[in-house]
Amino acid sequence: MIQGECVYTTDVCLDKDGYPRVKHGARTWRLNRLIFTFVNGKIPEGKVIGHSCNNKGCINPSHLYLTTPAQNSTQAKLDGLYKTGIENGRAKLSEEDVKELRRLYYEETVSQDKLAKKYKLSQSTVSAIVRNETYKHIGDER
Ligand SMILES: [Zn+2]
Repeated sequence: MIQGECVYTTDVCLDKDGYPRVKHGARTWRLNRLIFTFVNGKIPEGKVIGHSCNNKGCINPSHLYLTTPAQNSTQAKLDGLYKTGIENGRAKLSEEDVKELRRLYYEETVSQDKLAKKYKLSQSTVSAIVRNETYKHIGDER
């Protein structure tokens, strides 16, 4: 349940992911983590803060909840917030497509030409994908 309006700060730096950051004590915090900690206590290891309102800049404590990175990314995908970096006006491949394409190429030795037809891509695009020149972020997670 979302209670109240979103709260934003204007006076802080945003990190590269768009989250407000502040200095507190010896370290820099994501502001939402800091506020959550003030209100609810320590954040358990391995947990992250989710936003029930989907505004990652929001610091309203009642919009913040504990989640896991996996859940959070599933939720974000559901909410259409998940940017795969595949949005440059080119053909859009899902993460699964990219993994499957690489698997077909390396494990089943399907030719780049065939893969290009299958995924409606140019051969050079396929080539870049299997050589990890594009969609690098996919497969990095272990
Ligand atoms: Zn909010």
